[in-house]
Amino acid sequence: MNNTVSPVRLLTQSPVTEGHFSAELEALSWQGISASHQAKTEQDVRLALAKRRLNIDDFTALISPAAEPFLFAMVTKSEQLTKQRFGNTISLFAPLYLSNTCANECTYCGFSMSNAIKRLTLNETQVKSEVTAIKAKGFDHLLLVTGETNKVSMPYFERMIPHIKPHFSQLSMEVQPLDAEQYKKLKTIGLDGVLVYQETYRRKTYLEHHLRGNKSDFNYRLDAPDRIGQAGIHKIGLGALLGLEDWRTDSIIMAHHLRHLQKRYWRSRFSVAFPRIRPCEGGIVPKSVISDRQLVQLIAAWRLFDADLEMSLSTRESPEFRDHAVRMGFTTMSAESKTQPGGYAEDAQTALEQFEISDERSVNDIAAMIQTQGREVIWKDWDPALSHCD
Ligand code: SF4
Repeated sequence: MNNTVSPVRLLTQSPVTEGHFSAELEALSWQGISASHQAKTEQDVRLALAKRRLNIDDFTALISPAAEPFLFAMVTKSEQLTKQRFGNTISLFAPLYLSNTCANECTYCGFSMSNAIKRLTLNETQVKSEVTAIKAKGFDHLLLVTGETNKVSMPYFERMIPHIKPHFSQLSMEVQPLDAEQYKKLKTIGLDGVLVYQETYRRKTYLEHHLRGNKSDFNYRLDAPDRIGQAGIHKIGLGALLGLEDWRTDSIIMAHHLRHLQKRYWRSRFSVAFPRIRPCEGGIVPKSVISDRQLVQLIAAWRLFDADLEMSLSTRESPEFRDHAVRMGFTTMSAESKTQPGGYAEDAQTALEQFEISDERSVNDIAAMIQTQGREVIWKDWDPALSHCD
């Protein structure tokens, strides 16, 4: 990719790996893709809307400024496709923050190593308390989240997962990127899904926001979904942190990333998420603000691009937005999330939070809202026994 590396810091960078997305990204031009969405016309949008199978050029048209007058038609079609493929359902999950210790410096995150906050890594007793508190709320799908540090890595995951997995039918994680062999090992003890968000696909901007620590290795993170696919993990999650860069260009490159993975790891399911930058300790002002209306356009465009894609909506978004978004194309939502370790079983300690939650309603209130919107809440949509049907 035609990006100049920022002089902010020079740490070891993993090489491009042939056959992985890092090699494909080399051939994509950020400037060329930026120009492509600006050049789309209403005619391009009409053609994309009329198609059954959309390519990346069609997706580009649907997220372009030219598609803004077509929002109603896009959302209507997105609702229909989601209903056909996933029925009338929304699956709920809870994030379990195991640790806020982190050896990285990310400009947008409250867990950054230089932020003077209290650090906590849950021990086995604390993990069991969290599991009990989360189960009491009815959740059966859990997302494990940690900061990124060598102190909270494979030995810790191998110790904790056996205490957690027996209580949940679906276990995903959002932790530091690992090697394929490590993912394979975690799969044998119950890991079903891994989310690794690239934050931004523009190398220059990525390096400006990831100042210290292993996360500043752009290619190693970028190729993590390939390693997850090679390990045969059931679900792979992609995401860009909307606001770090031009959201349209990042989304188009993420569409390339998705197609690259789908061609190679066709036994896996894929999900995408749409986190927008939220206030946090040491937070930053977004470079590219995506409005509510544009976020709706982006969500509908993803659904039209890929009817099988799981799409997840977090409590970063406001109750008003989530209430309206429920029917648009989402398949999965978090509810009553605590973004600090120990947040479910112990009293809230907001100084430990990764970011501020916007939708603070209880899981019962969220479930009631989903039902009011004519949707059914699903607590369990996956069982490891189903993997034998592949
Ligand atoms: S975004 Fe992740 S890696 Fe970066 S500081 Fe926060 S927890 Fe650490």
